[in-house]
Amino acid sequence: MTSRALIIGGGIAGPVTALALRKAGLDPVVYEAYDKGSDGVGAFLTLAENGLAALEVLDLSLADLGMDTPAMVMVSRGRELATAPMRARTVTRAELYSALRDEAVRRGVAVEYGKRLVDAETTPTGVRARFADGTTAEGDILIGADGLRSRTRTIIDPKAPAARHIGLLNTGGYAHGLSLPGRPGVAHFVFGRRCFFGYLSHPDGGVWWFANPPAKREPTREELAAITPGQWRARLVDLFADDTGPMLDIIAATGHIFPAWNTYDFPRVPTWHNDRMVLVGDAVHAASPSSGQGASLAIEDAVVLGRCLRDLDDPAVAFTAFRAARRQRVERVVAQGRRNGNGKMQGPVGAAIRDLILPVVMRRVAEKDLLGWMYDYRVDWDEPATAPR
Ligand SMILES: Cc1cc2nc3c(=O)[nH]c(=O)nc-3n(C[C@H](O)[C@H](O)[C@H](O)COP(=O)(O)OP(=O)(O)OC[C@H]3O[C@@H](n4cnc5c(N)ncnc54)[C@H](O)[C@@H]3O)c2cc1C
Repeated sequence: MTSRALIIGGGIAGPVTALALRKAGLDPVVYEAYDKGSDGVGAFLTLAENGLAALEVLDLSLADLGMDTPAMVMVSRGRELATAPMRARTVTRAELYSALRDEAVRRGVAVEYGKRLVDAETTPTGVRARFADGTTAEGDILIGADGLRSRTRTIIDPKAPAARHIGLLNTGGYAHGLSLPGRPGVAHFVFGRRCFFGYLSHPDGGVWWFANPPAKREPTREELAAITPGQWRARLVDLFADDTGPMLDIIAATGHIFPAWNTYDFPRVPTWHNDRMVLVGDAVHAASPSSGQGASLAIEDAVVLGRCLRDLDDPAVAFTAFRAARRQRVERVVAQGRRNGNGKMQGPVGAAIRDLILPVVMRRVAEKDLLGWMYDYRVDWDEPATAPR
């Protein structure tokens, strides 16, 4: 019987997997590379209804965090192209990470900080993990919830592909002292002439926003780090100078603009596991932020893996069942995210076509429930997991 699980990474997939494993009767420990409290990195994300439903399986609710996001509105050249209802919650990454970790600890999970996995090996009875501080840990299984740049992924498969740059940067911030029209919480997505912009008004009066400047070539970390905050502000002002909408006011009302970072996805990771180690979350299927699904998929993974480990004694069989249950879905979401991202990077002709087509497409999506496969997915915790034939 699998009992002790070493979970690498204390982001979203890590703590939620720990909670699912505890519910399944296992004994998980979370190892996070950074020190406690160092995850105040600015950005926010939106948990879609499928992710919220997966959290509910574990009696987790985000009702006290962030804001409800009841709809999205798409805008181009000052014209509303489409509106769609949503059941989602928008939260800052920092508050989400710490709420999930705190809840894991409250339910008895040990979370160790300053533990960066550098290597791991299978032993005759389980696994041994080695950390950068020279310590080791032993368990029956190891779960790599260590994100896009997963070390676990390359331990399992040294030939694992690298993430794919998707041609967009990401920046954003929190604006204050503005009063924008519209309902709080509604996600506004603006196709600017040269840059995509998203914003939501918080009920407390703040405005949360992000922008996706296009980047045909992937800038290095050093190149990005060399751009000063003032240069970023000037670049964003320039990118939105010819657009209609509140973008320039929002940028002007923002004290600190996040330094921009690259965005990536993972169309396909060939090897998800070996006999004792398995990957979850971004480590195995990062979706473009344009999918709005990365965190939700990570949470679904956690619950599905918990169910597989509860019902299948041999970890290798449980991991195979997990992959079989998840692969097709996550790859479909990654592909959808890629398509969404492409819509943000159109030239003038492509943009004109997009503006003509999008309202029709969105109407069809609503009428025929074409994205139901993505949002209506539910994990039935009580359904027994079976070994794939
Ligand atoms: C700009 C942006 C916007 C996004 N917007 C959305 C959105 O609106 N909706 C949505 O659902 N998703 C969104 N996402 C995606 C979402 O943030 C990720 O899919 C989600 O965080 C994945 O969770 P994870 O736990 O797998 O990885 P992460 O959250 O990256 O967590 C990985 C953790 O592992 C730790 N770690 C890394 N290496 C090691 C190591 N060697 N040893 C120990 N620990 C390690 C890291 O410090 C980190 O804490 C967005 C992503 C970005 C970048």
